[in-house]
Amino acid sequence: MSKIRFKALSETLNRKPIEVNENTKRSLLFGENVFDETSMRQYLTKEAYIGVMSAIGKGTKIDRKIADQVSAAMKEWALSKGVTHYTHWFQPLTGATAEKHDAFFETIGGGLAIEKFGGGQLVQQEPDASSFPNGGIRNTFEARGYTAWDPTSPAFIYGTTLCIPTIFISYTGEALDYKTPLLRALHAVDEAATNVCKYFDKNVKKVTSSLGWEQEYFLIDKALAASRPDIILTGRTLVGHSPAKGQQLDDHYFGSIPSRALNFMRDLETECMLLGIPVKTRHNEVAPNQFELAPIYEESNLAVDHNSLLMDVMGKVGSRHNFKVLFHEKPFAGINGSGKHNNWSLATDTGVNLLGPGKTPMSNLQFLTFFINTIKAVNDNEELLRASIASASNDHRLGANEAPPAIISVFIGEQLTGVLNELEGVTNGKLSPQEKTDLKLNVVGKIPDVLLDNTDRNRTSPFAFTGNKFEFRAVGSTANCANPMTILNTIVAKQLKDFKIEVDALIEKKDLKKDEAIFNVLREYIKKSKNILFEGNGYGDAWEKEAKKRKLSNNKTTPDALKIKIADKSIKLFEEMGVMSKVEAEARYEIEIEEYTMHIQIESRTLGDLAGNHIVPTAIKYQNSLIKNVTGLKEIFGKDYKKYAEEQLQLITKISEHIEGLHSKIDDMLDARKKANKIEDIEKKAAAYCNKVKPYFDEIRYHCDKLELMVDDELWPLTKYREILFTR
Ligand code: ADP
Ligand code: MG
Repeated sequence: MSKIRFKALSETLNRKPIEVNENTKRSLLFGENVFDETSMRQYLTKEAYIGVMSAIGKGTKIDRKIADQVSAAMKEWALSKGVTHYTHWFQPLTGATAEKHDAFFETIGGGLAIEKFGGGQLVQQEPDASSFPNGGIRNTFEARGYTAWDPTSPAFIYGTTLCIPTIFISYTGEALDYKTPLLRALHAVDEAATNVCKYFDKNVKKVTSSLGWEQEYFLIDKALAASRPDIILTGRTLVGHSPAKGQQLDDHYFGSIPSRALNFMRDLETECMLLGIPVKTRHNEVAPNQFELAPIYEESNLAVDHNSLLMDVMGKVGSRHNFKVLFHEKPFAGINGSGKHNNWSLATDTGVNLLGPGKTPMSNLQFLTFFINTIKAVNDNEELLRASIASASNDHRLGANEAPPAIISVFIGEQLTGVLNELEGVTNGKLSPQEKTDLKLNVVGKIPDVLLDNTDRNRTSPFAFTGNKFEFRAVGSTANCANPMTILNTIVAKQLKDFKIEVDALIEKKDLKKDEAIFNVLREYIKKSKNILFEGNGYGDAWEKEAKKRKLSNNKTTPDALKIKIADKSIKLFEEMGVMSKVEAEARYEIEIEEYTMHIQIESRTLGDLAGNHIVPTAIKYQNSLIKNVTGLKEIFGKDYKKYAEEQLQLITKISEHIEGLHSKIDDMLDARKKANKIEDIEKKAAAYCNKVKPYFDEIRYHCDKLELMVDDELWPLTKYREILFTR
């Protein structure tokens, strides 16, 4: 049976659900709305097909003639699926995805019109981009940013629109998006890793970085979400008392998925299949109404695009099921937050996972090489890695005793620690034949066995080795994976490049054999990377103290964490690896720091409004009813009334205290904000928002949450945690 043709996605998103029944095989739907290899084979000329495949595989340029052929084929394919518009789809630094739709439709005079989409329109577009953040690179009056086709991520149909993944650069060629530096970092790691692979296998021509993300999220009822201004404006609750039942019972994790959520997931998975997002696992998470979704891992650039696309699709499918999807790292105080684990590895074009142990001592030496180089890269750049996941919302999670702390460390498990300890004892310089045999048989040769029982999993580690990949767990659930993936691949690329230089030098100057030289360098790396390795409990105070001794950074807030991004050392690294210029790095820093300020500013305004305009008046209303009650009791009982009104009188007093507390804190917060707003320097302004404005959040919340417990439930203006979290 030939592949069933499904209508464009809009049929499902904007109108009625797609007609897929329980028995429709997912594999039949997979990639149906993607201009993937299968569609390309069907629609492209041989010449164009070879051109695109070579651009994908080798990064060769696509000339205009080929571009014309590809665009014609894409158009034909898209029109066959009812598509009317096309857009360059990109990821500006706002964190969301952006698109500007153009119709294929074009008039040709004489009252006639055709469907047109040429190579020029495919390859480059000039959206009016003045309102995307650019950190001063592109003057707003200049308003010219270009989007350029990224053939490594296939075009897809979303709604009735053909979406063409693109990079977004300024008129002067600087990156204005997440994708451009990522592509450069992926190129750098490919080059450096391929060179190192040549020690082990001359046939390796390309190394790709793989990413498998795990997305956590909350599903809450759309109407209930709409009743909470804080959720609507900030994506999280700014006030709200913990429910009597939280997650203490641990009954949600891996429990059965509530049917309404399950229907949403089924629908979402169908959409993902059509879009070629290979989602595979779904399960409940720790908190009530919290879930996780994970795909099969993919090449990093594609995986990043797919995660961005997924977040968009989730919002739309959620809405159809009357859900609001919360991606925020900490939507509810006292309830587990959400993250986005980034599982990362490197694979060769010969089909080898460089972070998976092999079957022979030589392939295991290759594994150890990449394993130890990654550890060294993280050791030398831990602060930069921390910076890559810094955001106002992730600050709630890191160091909040549930997610990894703000200190970066690497967990490798007991067995591999043992292997590194043995390697550390290797002789300096030339190895005796006996030592070589020993190493091969007893250390390197044993790795696969070792990993088989390497089942210990340390959930508190931000960066853990999990058998055949590293898992960067500290990434925030709202984050665009491009940021951490750019940094991780860049630091590993730099490390591998240095490694090659050092090994080659030992071979040439010290006349060492290749494997001797590799052992020698690795041994030194193990010695130098000790500080980053940590197997214990990452949540405890003990680790904070220990980490301080080890001189590991512990930047708990975004303004502190971001600084390293523009340190000389970092700029040098970005420039050397061809990932970002100084101007680009500084522009990004500016954008991120300003985004932080805006984030806290919006939260502060929303909280002030909630507390002052919703909660205080409600408290007064309730207090008035108590006063009326007391006055009534006095009328009835005369002098004795106090005997009957004790409770009420106490409540009246307490409510007054909290109202007074709220008034003064709201005023103080407003003053702090006014002062912060006057600061010109963006770094100091962010620091003021962080250290002077934000601390009022908890104080104001304290009074609000106390009042929530006192005020008549019927009067309380905000939907409560228990209603939001346990509605199914
Ligand atoms: P966990 O126990 O961490 O929840 P899961 O099995 O849910 O593990 O998720 C593991 C993730 O790691 C998946 O997204 C999977 O695709 C990804 N993954 C598996 N192997 C690799 C690899 N070699 N490189 C990158 N990602 C991988
Ligand atoms: Mg995981």
